[in-house]
Amino acid sequence: MPASNIRAAFIRNALEFAEKISQLEGVRRIAIVREITTPMKNPEILCLVVTVSEDAPIKPIADAGRKLKGRMQSMPTAAGADVFLASETHEYLGRTCSYRECHPRAACQGSQCNGTFVNNDFHVFTLEKEVIQSSPVEVFPQVIIRSRIPDDLRRALEEHQKKMLPGKPVGKQYPRRQNTNAIVTDNWSNPNAKGLYDAQWPDEPATKALYEEGRQCGGCAFFAPFNEDWGLCCHRESRHNLETVFEHFTCPKQQETG
Ligand SMILES: [Zn+2]
Repeated sequence: MPASNIRAAFIRNALEFAEKISQLEGVRRIAIVREITTPMKNPEILCLVVTVSEDAPIKPIADAGRKLKGRMQSMPTAAGADVFLASETHEYLGRTCSYRECHPRAACQGSQCNGTFVNNDFHVFTLEKEVIQSSPVEVFPQVIIRSRIPDDLRRALEEHQKKMLPGKPVGKQYPRRQNTNAIVTDNWSNPNAKGLYDAQWPDEPATKALYEEGRQCGGCAFFAPFNEDWGLCCHRESRHNLETVFEHFTCPKQQETG
């Protein structure tokens, strides 16, 4: 089976599953996460997140999940599927039980569904709140795309949305929460710069002279102010490039605006 056919089968199964369980009681949201939302050519496991209301009956969702697992397993590449459950406050609840009858068995290896059809094997796997809250792709109640996803999946989602909600375009949300920058905006981000400022550049009389002339960061063309006191040095040639510095700081590369 060529790689593109494997992905196509994964996508088709994901959307069929979503369509089926979107009609079940208490199902609030269905998302696709992990492998097929990335350019992975030979995905092995189809992962879906189903957000449910507190009183949602889980057995029908687990039943659909079990059938999905069966279909994935019968693919030539013997793939798997996981249906993760989440609360409306984006907490991970566990994955659906794989058995028709849910009761403790040796094969469950310490995981406990105990008839609830929710397998809380957190020691094997857990899903971060972040992934639940801003999953790369949401299928239901409407299609929302939050990540750069492969074209095959994007096209299939657009078709799906046309079929389910004709006239309503696919939602696209810039994934703001995935930004990993941690910018300091109210203090020195590098203690060495603070050291220079506190000691007034003891080994650099020329730099100290600049400071005294008033040629300071606050007046530098490469200073991006965060507030009245602090800003980011954006001067690539400055030794303080990408540091948060005090507006009255300076360096040998200070460049007056205008
Ligand atoms: Zn079980």
